[in-house]
Amino acid sequence: MIFLDNASTTKINKQVNDLIYQVNSEFFFNPSALYKQSIDVTSKILQAKQQIGECLNVNPDNILFTSGATESNNTAIKGFLTGNKNAEYIFSMGEHPSVYEVAQSLKNMGYKVNFVNLNKQGSVDIEHFKTLLNENTHFVSIMHISNETGAINDIQQLCQMAKNVNPNCIFHCDGVQAVGKINVDLQKLNVDAYSVSAHKFNGPKGCGILYVKNFNKFKPFILGGGQQTARRSGTENVSGILSTALAMKIACQNNNENFNNVLKLRNYFVEQISNNLSDYIINQSPNNSPYVLSVSFKGLKGEVIQHMMEEKGVLIGTGSACSSKKSNNRTLQNMGVEKSYINGSVRISFSYSNTMEEIIEASQCFVNVIKELSEKVR
Ligand code: PLP
Repeated sequence: MIFLDNASTTKINKQVNDLIYQVNSEFFFNPSALYKQSIDVTSKILQAKQQIGECLNVNPDNILFTSGATESNNTAIKGFLTGNKNAEYIFSMGEHPSVYEVAQSLKNMGYKVNFVNLNKQGSVDIEHFKTLLNENTHFVSIMHISNETGAINDIQQLCQMAKNVNPNCIFHCDGVQAVGKINVDLQKLNVDAYSVSAHKFNGPKGCGILYVKNFNKFKPFILGGGQQTARRSGTENVSGILSTALAMKIACQNNNENFNNVLKLRNYFVEQISNNLSDYIINQSPNNSPYVLSVSFKGLKGEVIQHMMEEKGVLIGTGSACSSKKSNNRTLQNMGVEKSYINGSVRISFSYSNTMEEIIEASQCFVNVIKELSEKVR
C-alpha cells in the first residue's frame, strides 16, 4: 500500500509511539495529585511545553493542550466572543469545517460575520480582505496553509493589515497543515491564537495545541476541575502531550530537509500529469505547500478516481477527509473552479516518509487510471 493522503493524517513515528507506551506504563499518575509521582508527571508536562515553545518560538506559558485542532479552533473562536453588539468577525471561505461551521453558527445566532473570498490560486483575496476590515473588526480567523490545495497565506501580512485597522483585533490562525512542514515562528507572525494538531506531523491522534498570546480577554471553553490554570479543564492526556512534543521536535528539526525532499516528490508527480494527461487544472498558488497536490479533471468523478487508485493499492483523497461526505467543495468553488472540474478533484498529499520509488509507481497508476476513465467518458 502506498499512502498519499497525508493531509488527512500521518503514520505515527515509531519513537513517538514507543514513548506513548512508556509514559502510560511508567508515568500514568494523575498530574493533579499531590504525591511525588504526580509532581514528576507535572514537570514532564512543563518540559514538553518548553520544547513546544522552542519549536514555535513562544513563551510555553501561552500553550494549552486540547483534544485536537477541532477543539483548538472552537476554543479560539468561542474564547474570544464579545458581547459588544458592533463587533465584527471575519473568516476565510477556505477554512476547515472546524472553523467554518463555528462561523456559520455564530452568523445564525446574529453575530456580524463576514467571509473573505479566496483568489483563483486559493489564498485569501487581499483586496477583498481590505474592504471587510474596519475599526469594529474584533476577530479574524485565517488558516496558514489550505488543507484542500496547499495554498499558503501570508499570515504576517494579513495579521498586520488587521491590526493596522484595529490594534485590538484578535487574529487567530489554523496552523494544522503548517507546523512540522514549514518554519513557524509565532512571535514573527504576531498572531493572537494559533491551532495545531499532532496527528498531522506523525504524532498521536486526539492531541492538539492552542497558543494564546494574551489570556486577558480569553474565556475558557471547557470548564471543570481547573486543570491548565483553569483555561482548559480535564485531566491532561499525559502520554499525548509528551509524545506531541517529541513528534514536533523531530518534525521541526528536519523541516527544511523534508520540505526539499517532498518538493521533489510533488514535482515528479506534477511532471507525470503534465506529460501524459489533458483537461485538468492543478489548483495551486505560486507559493504552495509541496505537501499537497490538488488536481481537477474535467468530466471525471473524484470518488471514482480514488476507488480505482485504491484497487491498485494507492490511497489518495478527494479533499478534506472531514468534509468528504459533503458533495461540494467549498474551497474550489470559491476559487472559481468550474463545476465540471470540481467533481473530478482529487487531493494527493505527501509525507517525508514517502519514497521516490513509491511516487514513480503511484504516478504511473494515476496516469493509467485517468486515461482509462477519460476513454470511457469522452
Ligand atoms: N484544520 C485543518 C486545516 C485540518 O486539516 C484539520 C484536519 O483535517 C483540522 C483543522 C482538524 O484537526 P483535528 O483532526 O486534530 O481535529
